[in-house]
Amino acid sequence: MQDKIFLSSPHMSDEGFEMEYVKQAFNTNWIAPLGENVNKFEEELADKVGSKHAAALSSGTAAIHLALKAIGVGDGDIVFCPTLTFSATANPIIYQNAVPVFIDSEVSTWNMSPKALEEAFKKHPNVKAVIIVHLYGLSANMDEIMKICRLYNVKVIEDAAESLGSYYKGKQTGTFGDYGVYSFNGNKIITTSGGGMLVSNDGERIEKARFWATQSRDQARHYEHSELGYNYRMSNVSAGIGRGQLIVLDQRVIKKNYIYNYYKQKLRDLDGIAFMPENSWDEPNYWLSSVTLYGQVRPIDVIEALEKENIEARPIWKPMHLQPYFKNYDFVGSNVAEGLFENGLCLPSDTKMTDSDINKVVEIIKGLW
Ligand SMILES: *Cc1c(COP(=O)(O)O)cnc(C)c1O
Repeated sequence: MQDKIFLSSPHMSDEGFEMEYVKQAFNTNWIAPLGENVNKFEEELADKVGSKHAAALSSGTAAIHLALKAIGVGDGDIVFCPTLTFSATANPIIYQNAVPVFIDSEVSTWNMSPKALEEAFKKHPNVKAVIIVHLYGLSANMDEIMKICRLYNVKVIEDAAESLGSYYKGKQTGTFGDYGVYSFNGNKIITTSGGGMLVSNDGERIEKARFWATQSRDQARHYEHSELGYNYRMSNVSAGIGRGQLIVLDQRVIKKNYIYNYYKQKLRDLDGIAFMPENSWDEPNYWLSSVTLYGQVRPIDVIEALEKENIEARPIWKPMHLQPYFKNYDFVGSNVAEGLFENGLCLPSDTKMTDSDINKVVEIIKGLW
């Protein structure tokens, strides 16, 4: 059986940095809980992205959940959320018994449309928080979006789970809003096997998030709890993997960029194909090389042709307002996200791919035209 080519799979450093930090955890028996790797990973990640504080958590989803809690989102509160995203962005709104309102994308960024956002504010002026997503490493239109959110004086969470290493006007995505969220799930640009990070310049709120994440244990010799708690902390072993991965993050971005440009160069002349939007203010991490197909060849044709050769490709996220679970919540916009879903395609973007692997993908795709 030939080796599978993945969409995006874990890629440990050639130097074994991750193993060194994991070994330290073993040698000191700080397997769990917490320990030096967790503290250092928080510091190093915060430093890397340019945020003052960070809390290492068990997942990006947990980080979004605690960001909502830190803002005080609760029963019946409205939260704006892009419709074009992974369900992990929207689910924590429901965990807090709050009410999502889904916002359409704009063609020029694939992310939240400032125009639809403005419309949503007019319709729901009592909104409590806005979640912004930087899909596939593409920055949302942050100047416009932040201007509107500041005007309405509403707190902003940036779901940067897919965009660690992406810059908007020279500043890291995840550091524009009141809270930023990163994910280290196995398919993300770097991984801890599973984990997430909540960042903010508000040290008091980050400390509070750490408190909630460790079952809300009050200061006492016995087990005392005056608040609801969660088991959301990252283990010291996972954090060790994360510290090693952080060292190679820039290398991973360079390789993802290389893969994207390779595809672009070889495929851009195919009839009906369009590559992801490019904006002068954007330095994406190219997490997944994505295209839209508006000609005769449909995304499913490409996915099936690649699948036959043991190569993984996927459709673009299905919008939340079209999901059976979320269908009764309000949606503001038109059919931009829906169009991206119907015509969009994520190509294999695994950083372990060789030139010959990328070329194989290119040749299979060209064969369909
Ligand atoms: C992966 C992802 C998450 C969730 O991260 P986990 O660490 O898997 O919980 C959230 N939002 C988006 C957009 C993602 O792609």
